[in-house]
Amino acid sequence: MSDCVFCKIANGEIATTFVAESEHSVAFKDINPAQPVHVLVVPKQHYADIAELTASNDAALLDLIKLGTNVAESLSTGSFRFQFNTGAEAGQTVFHAHGHITSRTPRN
Ligand code: AMP
Ligand code: ZN
Repeated sequence: MSDCVFCKIANGEIATTFVAESEHSVAFKDINPAQPVHVLVVPKQHYADIAELTASNDAALLDLIKLGTNVAESLSTGSFRFQFNTGAEAGQTVFHAHGHITSRTPRN
């Protein structure tokens, strides 16, 4: 989607350092971190939210969960949240599917 900030990050239109990248997903630091570890993991293709991704693309969904979990385990001591705000009433503000990885216990 042309006016989607996470599409622009994923396709390189907005220069961003990726924490990790896989076939279908990228991970990058949240611009406004809520905890010492706060990384977003997003599919490279545009889906509005995790429900739309789940309904549409099994390979991209599995890839996102695996990349996010691997990033969470590598950046934290093993205690983390992996959260998908879905819908405006649940706090979603960017309507390109993304998981928040947060942890109060960074590995370093
Ligand atoms: P949500 O409220 O679940 O939709 O989360 C959106 C998240 O995206 C917020 O935590 C923002 O801080 C983050 N965010 C918005 N724009 C950017 C950006 N350009 N780079 C990194 N994180 C961003
Ligand atoms: Zn998008």
